[in-house]
Amino acid sequence: MTPLATARRLVIKIGSSLLVDADGEIDRVWLNALCDDIAALRRRDQQVIVVTSGAVAVGRRHLGLASGPLRLDEKQAAAAAGQIRLAHVYEETLVDHHLKVAQLLLTLDDSENRRRYLNARNTLETLLRLGAVPVINENDTVATQEIRFGDNDRLAARVAQMIGADTLVLFSDIDGLYTGNPRVDPDARFIPEVMEMTPEIEAMAGDPGSAMGSGGMVTKLQAARIALAAGCRMAIAPGKPLHPLKTMEEGGRCTWFHPAEEPLTARKQWIAGSLKPQGTLVVDAGARRALAKGGSLLPAGVVTVAGDFQKGEAVVVVGREGQAVGVGLTAYSAEDAKHIIGRKSGDFETLLGYRGPDEIIHRDDLVIAP
Ligand code: GLU
Repeated sequence: MTPLATARRLVIKIGSSLLVDADGEIDRVWLNALCDDIAALRRRDQQVIVVTSGAVAVGRRHLGLASGPLRLDEKQAAAAAGQIRLAHVYEETLVDHHLKVAQLLLTLDDSENRRRYLNARNTLETLLRLGAVPVINENDTVATQEIRFGDNDRLAARVAQMIGADTLVLFSDIDGLYTGNPRVDPDARFIPEVMEMTPEIEAMAGDPGSAMGSGGMVTKLQAARIALAAGCRMAIAPGKPLHPLKTMEEGGRCTWFHPAEEPLTARKQWIAGSLKPQGTLVVDAGARRALAKGGSLLPAGVVTVAGDFQKGEAVVVVGREGQAVGVGLTAYSAEDAKHIIGRKSGDFETLLGYRGPDEIIHRDDLVIAP
């Protein structure tokens, strides 16, 4: 069985060259076939998130910009014109397949800034729970850095990490990883599987200045590093032929990168190991029992809030006598937490002016002390 068949939460990245032809037209036949594949996965109750490029390629033609390199403002203008068209065609095609569709425009910064990150994550979780197929691109028109090809490889990996996806597939015009550039080196060998990101593997990306390197393997291996660290397996697969997902499932050639850990384990290691706790929640005995059984922490079980922390930051959880209970990511800031501790979720809206989550630390965001 291919890893694709067992994926529960799958992120696929579509490169511009697959979707947009030389005249800047979206290849609807190709997209329709891709959506057949997505619909087949959805019927098996697999969640699918699409990260798509193509806005600049579509928009530059639409605006009549000459071929050749564009200035940043021209690229951003092209993206603005292209994105609306891109979204329209995805919407039409996915709805034709009886799928619900939603668009998210993210900047790479959204996955780095903790608060925006959490909001983007919660929105994606909700969309997936409601059965929608999120279609994501970078928010190119507000990006302050140069828009480069390959940005979406990293964006797709960050999205996969953010939502704890178990599988990421980068579709492009390259069919996988080779020991060298197969376009110039007849001895370049195809690598079907990567178990670890060794320096030898990294070296296969080639020199970033080479034709293969720019937006080719370099950003794909960067994406692999992000995905594997998050416990998400990744594939580099050929997207050009019709039905690329079905082709993969039927044993089509691609390179799989395997992580050492499951997504949840990797996430918990990150919470326990890399974040500096910004505050403390003191909890009662009932909450300690619930947490020991694998439950989430509810504000009702918290007796004291100490420290000054923001939503999404790490906090230490201790018992009334200071016994270590664990560490987790808080869904509320210290200020908001103080208003809702000891209270039931039905009161949160009156106390805070908005309806936040029922848990102050969700069990997936909590690492219990050994
Ligand atoms: N976000 C850009 C676009 O949609 C493409 C970036 C990339 O290809 O990685 O045109």
